[in-house]
Amino acid sequence: MHSAAGHMRKNRKIAVITALALMMSVLLTAALSLVIDGELTLKPLAIAAVCAVFIATPIAQFVLTQTEKLEQAHAELIAAHRQLAVLYKELENAHHAMEFKAQHDAMTGLVNRAAFISGLDGMRRGSDRGFVLMIDADRFKRINDTHGHDTGDRVLVAIADTLQAVTRKGDICARIGGEEFAVYLPGSSYQEAYECGERLRRNVAGKQVRMSTGETISATVSIGVAPFEAGQSVDDLMRAADRLLYQAKSEGRNRTCIAAPVLQAA
Ligand code: GH3
Ligand code: MG
Ligand code: MG
Repeated sequence: MHSAAGHMRKNRKIAVITALALMMSVLLTAALSLVIDGELTLKPLAIAAVCAVFIATPIAQFVLTQTEKLEQAHAELIAAHRQLAVLYKELENAHHAMEFKAQHDAMTGLVNRAAFISGLDGMRRGSDRGFVLMIDADRFKRINDTHGHDTGDRVLVAIADTLQAVTRKGDICARIGGEEFAVYLPGSSYQEAYECGERLRRNVAGKQVRMSTGETISATVSIGVAPFEAGQSVDDLMRAADRLLYQAKSEGRNRTCIAAPVLQAA
């Protein structure tokens, strides 16, 4: 929208341009008259003045109007560009949030099964050894049945917190199912993997989980620990850890079962 001040500014510019054109035209005509005719007559000067006014005014008006339009279009383009940058940032944030949501379990904040498997696949390629821990809460259905689903959820969160507390920064901790968790320890030794499992098992068992009533309960987990062997697929590695987990269950629960170490030939 054009303001009154803007209009006045534009008219002033047109007047200045017209006056300049008029002056130049009259001066030029006067000089030419003197050179060609040797005298100064009024007629050519009047024609020059009228022509200058009639030509310079519309041209000045046209050029200034187009300039105004160009300036306005430029300002609109800059505003649109800024708006686009804001939209792009919002889209990028939404994309990151969606990506995070797709890879994480909302309740515990751990990565989910799909992200665990893809992370394991990637890390397994970069390290020649590592261990998978499969962890399952013991008699969890009984906790739910006795104390309610909310208490069950609190126990799951407590197990997830313990998992993160006993592992290192580069390890992957995941909730891969309802009351099932998994950890990948890249580069760890047989001894370290077993100790990690036991530390986790002991810490879970020793943890007092506060229920909504204010009372506390504790839970236990069973753990299967399997080493990554060269050439093994992620599925085979998970299945091996699963078998050891069920061995831990069948041996009485609240224990860590690890595959016997493969002895290297001397
Ligand atoms: P086991 O020692 O053999 O593993 O026995 P369990 O009772 O832990 O195993 P089962 O598979 O019989 O029961 C698992 C239960 O976990 C059943 C299901 O309702 C519960 N569960 C799964 N996901 C959740 C969840 O997100 N929150 C809660 N509170 N319970 C869950
Ligand atoms: Mg289970
Ligand atoms: Mg269970």
